[in-house]
Amino acid sequence: MSSSHSGHVVIVGAGAAGLMACRELGRAGKKVTVLEARERCGGRIFPLPTSEFGYPAEGGPEFIHGDAPETRALLLEGGLSISPIQGTRWKVRDGVFSKAESSVPDADRLFKALTELEADLPVSDFVKRYFAASQYGELRRVIRRMVEGYDAADPARASTFGLRDEWVGRGLGNHGRVVGGYGALVEFLVDQCRRRGASIHLGAVIKAIGMSGGRMVAYCADGRAYEGDAVILAVPLHLLSEIELPHSAREKVALSEQMGFGNVVKFLLRFATKWWAGTGSKDLDDLSFLFTEDSVPTWWTQYPSGNPVLTGWLSGPRTKAVMHLGEAELVEFALSSLGKAFDVAVEHLKHNLVSARAINWGNDAFARGAYSYVTLETRKIQPLLRSSNGDGVFFSGEALYSGRDVGTVEAALASGSETARALLSARP
Ligand SMILES: Cc1cc2nc3c(=O)[nH]c(=O)nc-3n(C[C@H](O)[C@H](O)[C@H](O)COP(=O)(O)OP(=O)(O)OC[C@H]3O[C@@H](n4cnc5c(N)ncnc54)[C@H](O)[C@@H]3O)c2cc1C
Repeated sequence: MSSSHSGHVVIVGAGAAGLMACRELGRAGKKVTVLEARERCGGRIFPLPTSEFGYPAEGGPEFIHGDAPETRALLLEGGLSISPIQGTRWKVRDGVFSKAESSVPDADRLFKALTELEADLPVSDFVKRYFAASQYGELRRVIRRMVEGYDAADPARASTFGLRDEWVGRGLGNHGRVVGGYGALVEFLVDQCRRRGASIHLGAVIKAIGMSGGRMVAYCADGRAYEGDAVILAVPLHLLSEIELPHSAREKVALSEQMGFGNVVKFLLRFATKWWAGTGSKDLDDLSFLFTEDSVPTWWTQYPSGNPVLTGWLSGPRTKAVMHLGEAELVEFALSSLGKAFDVAVEHLKHNLVSARAINWGNDAFARGAYSYVTLETRKIQPLLRSSNGDGVFFSGEALYSGRDVGTVEAALASGSETARALLSARP
C-alpha cells in the first residue's frame, strides 16, 4: 500500500464525522474524495424543509447536550448561534398534569451507589441489586426514562459506568438548539470541504473496499470505483458488516457487534394552533417537555418560539413494537397517544393537523437505528477500532468517541477530527 502521507484519501459517509475528517485533511493539504450513499450530506443530521413545519425542523438531532466543545467551536467559526432551551417541563399521569421535577428522586442514594460501584454491570442488574424495594418505584422510572428514552438503550445491555459518567459527570441540564438547525452546520462544513478542494459524490453506495495495483479502491453498487491511498469508513458502525472489507478490517468490524446501537422513532406534528396551551386546568403556554405514561412517552414544543409543533419521541427497545408500521400508521399511533395524554379526541387533533412526519430510523437503509450507547464492552473495543492496522483502513463516527457522550453530533465531530489526526500521523 502507498503511504497514507502520499496524498489521496477516500472517505465513505458524509455525516458529521466524515465531513469533519474531510475538512481537517483538506486543511492539511490532502486530496479528499467523499462518497455518500444518500442524495444529501449530513447523514443522521436531517433538516426538513421550512415549508413543512414553518421552521427548519429536525428529523434527526435537535439538541446540543452539555459542553460540546467541538460543536460550539464550529458554530462560532460558522457564525452560527445557540438558543438555550426554555420553558417548563410537565408530566401527566392518569390525566393529571404536574410539573416534572428536574431533580432525581433518592438522588443521594443513587449517586452513592453509582460512585461506590467497583465493577460494571448492566443497568437492569444494577437497579435490581440496589433499588428493587417498592419505595424506589419513582427512581426506577426515572432511570428507565434516562436509559431507554435519552440513550435509546436496552437497560439489559447498557453499562452502569456509562450511566454514571453521564449522570454524575454532567447532570441532565444545559441543552440548546442551533439557530437555523443542525443543517446550517452541515452547510458550513460542506462549504469548508469544497473550498479545500474536496470532491463529494452523492448517491454513491459503497459495497466493497479492495486493493488494486497497491492502491485502495472503493467500489459502488452502481459499478463506479474510486481509488485512494487510504480509506476512512465513516458509516454507522453496524452498517460496516454490509461492506466487503480487507480481512484485517473485517475482524475489527465483528467486534463492533458488541457495542450498543439504539433506535428512535421521531414524530413531528404541526397544528394550526397551539391548542395544548389552554387544555386542562393548567397553563401550559410555556410547555417545553411533557413526560407521559402513554405509548409515545416524551413530547416537546419549540418554546419560546411560537411554532405550533409538537415533537414526539419513542426510543430504545420499545420501538420494536412499531417496526412494522408505515409512516401514516405511525402518525395515527402518535395522535392516539397524544389524545390520551391530553384527553382530547383524535378527530379533534386531526382537524387541527397541518403536516406530520414520523421517522423510524431503524428502517432507514443508511442508518438502521439512531445512535450508539455504551455497553460493558464498548470502552474496550473502541481503541481497537480507532487504531489503524497499517492496512490503510480507518474507522470514524459517533460510536468511536472516547469522551462521555457517544451517540451525539459532538461525538461524531470529535471522532472525525481524531481520525484525521490519526491518519496524518500514521507512519509512511
Ligand atoms: C432521531 C435522532 C435524534 C438525535 N438527537 C440528537 C441530539 O439531539 N443531539 C445530538 O448531539 N445527537 C443526536 N443524535 C445523534 C447524532 O445525529 C449522531 O450521533 C450523528 O449525527 C452521527 O454522525 P456520524 O457522522 O457518526 O454518522 P452519520 O450521520 O450516520 O453519517 C454516516 C453517513 O454514511 C452514509 N452511509 C451509510 N452507508 C453507506 C454506504 N454503504 N456507502 C456510502 N455512504 C454510506 C450515511 O448515509 C451517512 O450520511 C440523534 C440521532 C437521531 C437519529
